[in-house]
Amino acid sequence: MSKKKAERPEPASLGLPRVGVESHAHLDGEGFSPEEIPAVLERAAGAGIAQVGNVYLGPAAYAAGRGLFAGHPEVFGILGQHPCDAATAVPGDVAAMEAAFRADGNLKAVGEIGLDYYWDATTAEVQKRLFRDQLALARELALPAVIHSRDAAADTLAILDDLGFAGRPLVWHCFGGDAALAREIARRGFYFSIPGPVTYRKNTALAEAVAGLDPTRLLLETDAPYLTPEPWRGKRNEPALLVFTAARVAALLGLETAALWRQTGDNARAFFGL
Ligand SMILES: [Zn+2]
Repeated sequence: MSKKKAERPEPASLGLPRVGVESHAHLDGEGFSPEEIPAVLERAAGAGIAQVGNVYLGPAAYAAGRGLFAGHPEVFGILGQHPCDAATAVPGDVAAMEAAFRADGNLKAVGEIGLDYYWDATTAEVQKRLFRDQLALARELALPAVIHSRDAAADTLAILDDLGFAGRPLVWHCFGGDAALAREIARRGFYFSIPGPVTYRKNTALAEAVAGLDPTRLLLETDAPYLTPEPWRGKRNEPALLVFTAARVAALLGLETAALWRQTGDNARAFFGL
């Protein structure tokens, strides 16, 4: 075995019990072919993942992708229109999503919704309107919300405050901020979902922020196929690799990986109502 390969342990080698939850993956997107979904989910189970949240990016993606998971009750759905798709959203989309939520009890949260000024700052006003409409939908359906916010934290928090979302079930997906932003999110009672970049050595501000978080407010995610954690960085991400993010977050918090794994799994089950 080459040295390079020896540096990359298999996810199952961490020996975690099957109580973890992958809170955010895009298995229905272009990153995975339909044929490989069973194997991807089998590797996730073997690594200790009990449930996987698949994020459908809008009503068309949901209609096209939901059948992929028909034989996989461990997969639950999250449905929302991503801010980067705001320009192409049509007026009937929110109503179509409402109908989907009412028909499918396996859809557990509205998301990912929010604001993204990194990829697309030109549609800020359109994004804000779509974000507000979908927050209203989450409230109407009494479902949790999964927030995507990139280079837009101040505007995201302002809208959440304006609509009175403090204290409601809401998770800041793919948290990548510093300790100051973490405090702003935490004091509103929101959850944090921690992705693979927390394992990157240069990400010291994120490591510092995560070290100060309340473990009862944490979820873990891959955002697969993106944001692969070390030591698999450079390869496609998939749910099984979540264990490496768990190990890093546990180390930052001074906890055993197995304890953090169970805690974040329990947090996710309570948050999504699994
Ligand atoms: Zn995502």
